Amino acid sequence: MFTLIDLPYSYTALIPYISKETLEFHHNKHLAGYVNKLNEILAPHEFFLNYDIEELVQNLDKLPEDIRQAVTNNAGQVYNHNLYFESLQGGKQEFKLSKELGDAIDSFGSYENFQKLWTAAGVGQFGSGWVWLVVDGEGKLSIEKTANADSPLMHGRSPILTMDVWEHAYYLDYQSRRPDYIKDYFELMNWEIISQRYAKTLTI
Ligand code: MN
Repeated sequence: MFTLIDLPYSYTALIPYISKETLEFHHNKHLAGYVNKLNEILAPHEFFLNYDIEELVQNLDKLPEDIRQAVTNNAGQVYNHNLYFESLQGGKQEFKLSKELGDAIDSFGSYENFQKLWTAAGVGQFGSGWVWLVVDGEGKLSIEKTANADSPLMHGRSPILTMDVWEHAYYLDYQSRRPDYIKDYFELMNWEIISQRYAKTLTI
């Protein structure tokens, strides 16, 4: 069975950028809904319930064809949201970026340039989707965007950070002002965790 992750912070931790209401709906309704639906679809296919969510997302081609699209949608959303919620922190940004990841980000020109490119990807994603920071086999970073529940992990690449740009992620707090949500998102990124993920992709 897949389970709803606990948030590594309280529902009020991301105020003033993300409200308690948004976080409650997002975690306890949207993500919980995807988890429940995934378990329901896989109930007659027990074998796949032994996978962890990353394995499932990387092995969608092994699923019976009649459930593949539904599993892709729901497992994709579970994986994407887990990475999203586990990439954030509340309180004062401590900016514990490792030297290695800092150097890799400098390949965008500068941190400010990384922010510009990330923002352009988020604003440019038409409709629902996600923005990703992805590491290749040599440790080089790239920014990608995907639609709906898609992710770079489904295509064999290694994401270390994501941003949800589905309207449910920001609409209560920002209405249609997606650029403002993205601007504030930089205040929430937990660079210590993201640096750990980066280091891990280099040792695989
Ligand atoms: Mn979402």
